Amino acid sequence: MKIRQNYNLSKLNTFGINVNALFFVEINNETDLIELFTLPEFKNNKKIFLGGGSNVLFTKNFDGLVVWNKLKGIEILEAEKDFVFIRAMGGEIWHNLVMFAVNHGYWGIENLSLIPGTVGAAPMQNIGAYGAELRNVLENVEAYEIATGVKRVFSKEECELGYRDSVFKNKLKNKYFISAITLKLNKIGEKNISYKMLKEYLEKNKIEINNPKDISDAVVFIRQSKLPDPKIMGNAGSFFKNVFVSARNASQSEVGGEKGKLEELLEKYPDMPYFKEDGTTKIPAGWLIEQCGWKGRRIGNVGAHEKQALVLVNYGGATGEELMELANKIMTSVREKFGLELVPEVNIV
Ligand SMILES: Cc1cc2nc3c(=O)[nH]c(=O)nc-3n(C[C@H](O)[C@H](O)[C@H](O)COP(=O)(O)OP(=O)(O)OC[C@H]3O[C@@H](n4cnc5c(N)ncnc54)[C@H](O)[C@@H]3O)c2cc1C
Repeated sequence: MKIRQNYNLSKLNTFGINVNALFFVEINNETDLIELFTLPEFKNNKKIFLGGGSNVLFTKNFDGLVVWNKLKGIEILEAEKDFVFIRAMGGEIWHNLVMFAVNHGYWGIENLSLIPGTVGAAPMQNIGAYGAELRNVLENVEAYEIATGVKRVFSKEECELGYRDSVFKNKLKNKYFISAITLKLNKIGEKNISYKMLKEYLEKNKIEINNPKDISDAVVFIRQSKLPDPKIMGNAGSFFKNVFVSARNASQSEVGGEKGKLEELLEKYPDMPYFKEDGTTKIPAGWLIEQCGWKGRRIGNVGAHEKQALVLVNYGGATGEELMELANKIMTSVREKFGLELVPEVNIV
């Protein structure tokens, strides 16, 4: 295991930000990991674990140790009549795990096809797309405590998965390294085509769903036509989370009851999209940003993408600070126009 110094990270973050790490190390197996905890470079510096770098924005050089997770392996642990348990190491590419599942005909993660990044980062923000989330299938998470090097298994409940959120982004932020996860997938067909855009695409193209691969193929097609490819234009997918708002309590009558922020906004913007889920109400951040005139707008090397305002892009040569300045300007516009606070989904380092 080799510790490198002043290591360039521009190819290890999908924004393509040109920064260096003071120290850098690659972890290829659990023996490396155990050794890592004993190294002075680890003990005496701040550190960050990196997978695919598809959900981070480096605003400056990192003056500590970057640990690059390359732990590989996917295994079927146990198969029951209807279910199968699959364990994947944290450094596996998430989409490869999806392909493993769909090629075996296992249902549950096909809607999450083509999300960039690694398996180990997936629980961090409970990755989600096209009507599915990791929490629907997660069984447990194996993680090493950074302070002690002791391994612990977190049950799904202990991971406290929420909308783009988990205990690892809150109470246990920077406290654990996720080494592996286990998923419980379905052997019996349970297609999830509730997501409007997916449903419309399948209907329009008369695609019949016979196996999880059919859904995966559709999701891959839609994603490729909608989102900028980070290899061509630096980005980290959605920069902000959708925004939670208060809404009139369902138990209150339609006309009575206290108005929430939702009703207040709908009076002013009757066409405003919103969606209700698990007792919460969210407004798409992309719509809010677009209404403030940011869609397709470019400032220097950075901008909000022309097809999806929620995706901030590096047109080439941008610094993390430039992207942060743009993000702050967008947050200010949304605050001033709607009185709502945008929260970054991307981890700012
Ligand atoms: C084009 C594009 C589309 C995207 N679409 C979606 C989408 O549809 N849905 C969605 O949810 N996300 C989406 N994302 C965001 C991103 O793909 C996910 O958040 C992904 O899980 C990040 O994985 P990563 O390995 O790249 O994480 P990184 O960016 O390397 O890390 C993200 C954070 O997790 C921490 N971390 C990483 N690995 C570990 C570990 N093993 N242990 C502890 N901490 C760790 C890092 O320190 C960092 O804080 C998209 C990104 C892009 C570029």
